[in-house]
Amino acid sequence: MIALKRPSENTLVLKPGKEKSLLRRHPWIFSGAVEKAPATAAAGETMRVLSHDGAFLAWAAMSPASQIRARVWSFDPTDRIDAEFISARIERALRSRGAMAQSANPHAALRLVHGECDGLPGVIADRYANTLVLQLLSCGAERWREEIADALVKSTACEHAYERSDADVRTLEGLAPRAGVLRGAPAGDIEILEGERQLRFLVDVAGGQKTGFYLDQSDNRAMVAAMALDRQVLNCFCYTGAFSIAALAGGAASVTSIDSSAPALAKLAVHLKLNGCDTARSVATEADTFQALRSLRDSGRSFDMIILDPPKFAPTAAHAERAARAYKDINLLGFKLLKPGGRLITFSCSGGVDAALFQKIVAGAALDAGVDAQIERKLTASPDHPVLLSFPEGEYLKGLVCRRLD
Ligand code: SAH
Repeated sequence: MIALKRPSENTLVLKPGKEKSLLRRHPWIFSGAVEKAPATAAAGETMRVLSHDGAFLAWAAMSPASQIRARVWSFDPTDRIDAEFISARIERALRSRGAMAQSANPHAALRLVHGECDGLPGVIADRYANTLVLQLLSCGAERWREEIADALVKSTACEHAYERSDADVRTLEGLAPRAGVLRGAPAGDIEILEGERQLRFLVDVAGGQKTGFYLDQSDNRAMVAAMALDRQVLNCFCYTGAFSIAALAGGAASVTSIDSSAPALAKLAVHLKLNGCDTARSVATEADTFQALRSLRDSGRSFDMIILDPPKFAPTAAHAERAARAYKDINLLGFKLLKPGGRLITFSCSGGVDAALFQKIVAGAALDAGVDAQIERKLTASPDHPVLLSFPEGEYLKGLVCRRLD
């Protein structure tokens, strides 16, 4: 084993007592927990992690520049972190998705690998029809880039793979952004079919946000469709209008969609046509949601259903306070625009704001809006975005369906 050949070079020793989270199988090792790590340890190098008294804890990938100094690949001392290991983890992720990953639908779309939650820290892989989109967000993921791409292409038989490692979090790892073709041909717009209603969407994997589409909301969109009949709907932060299309497919009387991105709204217009929606029922506005909600309020508008799906206001706990104010603001305005008996469907995808805090913020917003409301349902990401029990941070998407009492 490598560790026996160069014991002093690839061993990371923790401070006394800092092994506790690893014993609970949490996969992150913070810089403050590290007593000793060789200065020569390369980004992405596999480290043997030891407790202060020398007990084996884990194999982890080194991130020399990050506060999260190492991310665990395995807690098994007999494992060897190599191409075979990576491939076995990818196979496991596909197996755990069962029928979802085996879908015969050539336009299927789902997340195949969900980072830490699938035992592959920093690795995100989404499938859109026969194209894979890969996001490598940590030094460990970057180190095994080729092996990850090979294993995914082999086990999914997808023809094309595109890399979207251009998320901001890469800077925290000291990694430059990278995007482009990994395997196969350059990707154009890819058509996917979502849910039982087989809603048609075009995903721009090269130019779209994240990996091109918000797959985590697919079940929640189905829920919106089921609740939308005859409703007047306001969809804020609509991106390419996936919730808007779902609402119209479910028979909404009207849908007002708001986003600050002109290209996203242009795609919404295409999606209306693709899905045969009645365009007379749709109004889309390019605007800042914070301002748009105020002008809707000032003009006395009200809605039966309001969806708030903002971007990550708090990527980490350090941003929680400012984020809380932003969530409070839009939710307060949302409650004010809600008709009695109407529903506010409100989300947070901020890692730095947990479910309890989010609920507290929404409760404060209702109070300040002078509205009595109930939580009808709590929402999470779709099951292809599972949460590893030992990694609660994996539960980043929180949603509440709040019904305003009449
Ligand atoms: N609900 C969408 C995903 C929303 S992602 C779906 O299901 O596909 C968040 C969106 O918010 C992005 O499209 C981004 O362009 C938009 N956005 C970010 N800040 C905004 C702001 N201040 N006002 C309006 N839109 C904003």
